[in-house]
Amino acid sequence: MNFSKLTKQSIRSLRPYEAKKIPCGIKLDANECPYSISDGVFAEKNFIGALNRYPDPEIKELRKVVAKNFRVSPDNILVGNGSDELIYYLIITFGGPVIYPAPTFSMYEIISRSLGEECIGIPLDRNFDLDMKKMSAAVEKYRPRLIFLNSPNNPTGNCFSDDRILKTIEALDSRTKGIVVVDEAYQPFSGKKGFLPLLKDYKNLAVLRTLSKVGFAALRVGFLAADKELITEVNKVRLPFNLNALSQSIALETFRNKEILDSWVSIIRAERERLFKELNNLNGVRPCHSEANFIMFKVDTPDIVFQRLIKLDVLVRNLSSMIKGSLRVTVGTPEENNAFIKAIRTAMHSSDTL
Ligand code: PMP
Repeated sequence: MNFSKLTKQSIRSLRPYEAKKIPCGIKLDANECPYSISDGVFAEKNFIGALNRYPDPEIKELRKVVAKNFRVSPDNILVGNGSDELIYYLIITFGGPVIYPAPTFSMYEIISRSLGEECIGIPLDRNFDLDMKKMSAAVEKYRPRLIFLNSPNNPTGNCFSDDRILKTIEALDSRTKGIVVVDEAYQPFSGKKGFLPLLKDYKNLAVLRTLSKVGFAALRVGFLAADKELITEVNKVRLPFNLNALSQSIALETFRNKEILDSWVSIIRAERERLFKELNNLNGVRPCHSEANFIMFKVDTPDIVFQRLIKLDVLVRNLSSMIKGSLRVTVGTPEENNAFIKAIRTAMHSSDTL
C-alpha cells in the first residue's frame, strides 16, 4: 500500500525533525545540559503517586510556582509537553502566515507546514541579527499572525538586539495585531534579562521557556507566558492531561532546587567562554560568539571534520546543509570539552581523507 498517496499534499514533501542517535562516547550535538540530577539530590524522593489516576489536568501547582518565578500570575502560564508542543498549539490556535528569521530553530517551519499554514523565513543580517528592513517589508507583505524570534538563536548562538525585537513587536501590533513569540529556550545562558518583564507592556508578546536546556530534557516540560486572554485561547487546543504526573512533580522539585540549576548554568557559561577561546585559537576554525549553551563554528570542510570527530568518539551537529561550512558543538562538562578540543585539533590537522 502506498501511504504517501494518502498523505495530505502539504505533508508529503516534509522531512521529519532530525534527531538521529549516532552512538558516540561524547555527545555534544543536542544542546542538552551535561549535568543531571538523577544521581544525587532528589533521587530519594517518591514522585510516583497514584498511577491509576489521571494527572492534574490544569497543572495547577506547577503553574503557581512557575508564575512566582516569572513574576506573573498563574493565569499567564500554559505548560506544555516540551516547548515544541506549545509552538504547535500557538500555530494551531492562531494560524499563519508565520514568520521567523533564517537560520533558526527548524520546528517553526516544520509545524507550520505540517498544519498547512503559510510560513516564511526572513534572512538574518550578516551579524545574525534581525534585518529590520527585510522584517518590516515582510510584515507589510505577509501580514503575519505569528512571528517566532528565538533569542539566543539556535543555531547561531547570539541574542537579537532588544530594540529590534521591540520594533518587531510594535510593528506587528500596529499592522495586524499579530503575536510575537520570543522563544527563550537558551535565555538562562545569556547575560540578558529576557522579555518576561515586558509582558505587562505588550499584549501581543508571548515568551517561551523550557526545562530541557537546564538539565531536564527527558521530562519534556515547557512554559508559555503571555497575556491571560492569549493563554485562554491557546488553552482551547491543549490536549487533556498533556503533562504526565511524573513530569509535573519532578518539574515542581526543579524550582525548589533552583540554586543547583543555577550552578550548572554558571559552569556552562564559563566553559563556553573557554571553548570559544580554544576554538578561536585553532587555525581554520572560526567560532561565532554565543550567549547559549552551544557554539556554532565554521570550517572549510565541515563534512570531513564532522566524520573525523565521530571517529574520535565525539558527536557534534553538522549544520552545513543549512549554513555553509558550519558545525555546532554543545558545551559539555570540562572533561567533555577537553576531549572535544583534543579531537578537533586532531581532526583539523589530520591528513586522513576518510
Ligand atoms: N526552542 C528552541 C529554540 C530549541 O532549540 C528547542 C530544542 N531544541 C526547543 C524550543 C524545544 O524544546 P523542548 O525540549 O522544550 O520541546
